[in-house]
Amino acid sequence: MKKIAYLIFLCCATACNSSSQNNTANLKLNKTMNSENKITKTDEEWKEILSPEQYHVLREKGTEAPFSGKYYLDKEKGTYVCAACGAELFKSDTKFDAGCGWPSFADVIDSSKVIFTRDISHGMIRTEVTCAKCGGHLGHVFDDGPAPKHLRYCINSASIELKK
Ligand code: FE
Repeated sequence: MKKIAYLIFLCCATACNSSSQNNTANLKLNKTMNSENKITKTDEEWKEILSPEQYHVLREKGTEAPFSGKYYLDKEKGTYVCAACGAELFKSDTKFDAGCGWPSFADVIDSSKVIFTRDISHGMIRTEVTCAKCGGHLGHVFDDGPAPKHLRYCINSASIELKK
């Protein structure tokens, strides 16, 4: 099952990137984490407050299986916060269905809320998105989102919580 999910993930990432406009090239990479209110915990402390899936995605840079996350098709209004630290990250009115199997957002609430990092794992060149407050892995951002920014934040449901 994991292998199939991974293959779907690779196909999606490749297909979606075929219309790449290189908008992610304008994102500022490798900002440091917010020094103000920064949250640091030991692995054991994170394990106490996160579910095993949340811990795997947020702290071990895991990826949930496509089409499996609780927010993939969710259309409720509200603000999506980091599931680990509560930082406000995405508004529901920027959420759209990209057909890729993960919650997709056209923009982040404020670029200071996230950190962008070049990720060359799994034979791909991607831009990883992490929470600037706690360092939790959220997902990746791609170049094929809607106007005006043409960005698609592909985010794991396990990394976020909707506050209605
Ligand atoms: Fe966080």
